[in-house]
Amino acid sequence: MKKSKVLLLYTGGTIGMIEDPAESSLKPFNFSQITEEVPELNKINCSIETVAFEKPIDSSNMNFETWTKIGDEIFNNYDYFDGFVVLHGTDTMSYTASALSLMFQNLSKPIILTGSQLPLGQVRTDGKENLITAIEIASKKRNNKSIIQEVAIYFENQLFRGNRTTKVSSDHFDAFKSYNYPSLADVGVEINFNHNYLLLNKSKNLEYVKGFDPVVDVVLFYPGIIIKNIVKSIQSNSSKVVVLMSFGSGNLPLENELVDFLNSSNKIFLNVSQCKAGKVEQEKYETGLQLKKAGVIGVKDMTLETVIVKSMLLIKKHPLDKNKFKELFLSNIAGEVSE
Ligand code: ASP
Repeated sequence: MKKSKVLLLYTGGTIGMIEDPAESSLKPFNFSQITEEVPELNKINCSIETVAFEKPIDSSNMNFETWTKIGDEIFNNYDYFDGFVVLHGTDTMSYTASALSLMFQNLSKPIILTGSQLPLGQVRTDGKENLITAIEIASKKRNNKSIIQEVAIYFENQLFRGNRTTKVSSDHFDAFKSYNYPSLADVGVEINFNHNYLLLNKSKNLEYVKGFDPVVDVVLFYPGIIIKNIVKSIQSNSSKVVVLMSFGSGNLPLENELVDFLNSSNKIFLNVSQCKAGKVEQEKYETGLQLKKAGVIGVKDMTLETVIVKSMLLIKKHPLDKNKFKELFLSNIAGEVSE
């Protein structure tokens, strides 16, 4: 069988750093010499090409422009490679994975994001295993087709659907969780794919969608919150979509001022629970039903990261059409919401 070709794109983050012995601080290493840092890459049965951001960035500096930069790099190389691995800082990796999953619709090749908690240049690094296995997964085929045909995050022995993930730890090696969707693969001595949970392309053509409008606001509710201040702040900012971070299955304090405001405002309101696992069901309690009646959209079991990114994408596409936004928002684009 022909060797798979994988494109490795380095955007920044901890993984690509080595210790500067003079200053004992971390600095990015020259990525074109990745095989000097990780000679094991030469032993993987696939050919690897690398490309790097001119100036690697901490993932806190990622935004819709850098998502597009990553997307364009993959799109321009899509026909020439069998799989793609994106090395990315862990802090906002789930947002970028969500964005790429919505940008690359009907994928038939893998886009795997990974990174690490300790730099590649450190002895106890988790980066080597993450990098090597991510490349192996990106190169794997069955019956001449890629096994993974979606955007995923590989981290600490697990492969997750990217748009279902959340970063949960800033110091444990298993930094990511996917609360509402099972892992796509579990890695030990073998790489065991959970074939029943993989997205497979039914011979549709790739559609590359780009364009984001970041007019999204997120409001965290807590007991005792002063509703008057919240209403004032939402009214006076330029957001078009407002994410209300509710309690439990989608409940908010029942205050007339809030309910009246939600009923009268022409912004789009989305209900995301502060609980990471489970789904929003606005009809379950009176405190949620009021929201449903006011036209607030319960996001079912989507992650906050996906809700924010999906909002930016859909509001750009349908800026004036609230109904279209709602219809598309609740429908599945890339496995981000359970039916
Ligand atoms: N601050 C870093 C980043 O997200 C952390 C990491 O790479 O893990 O870029």
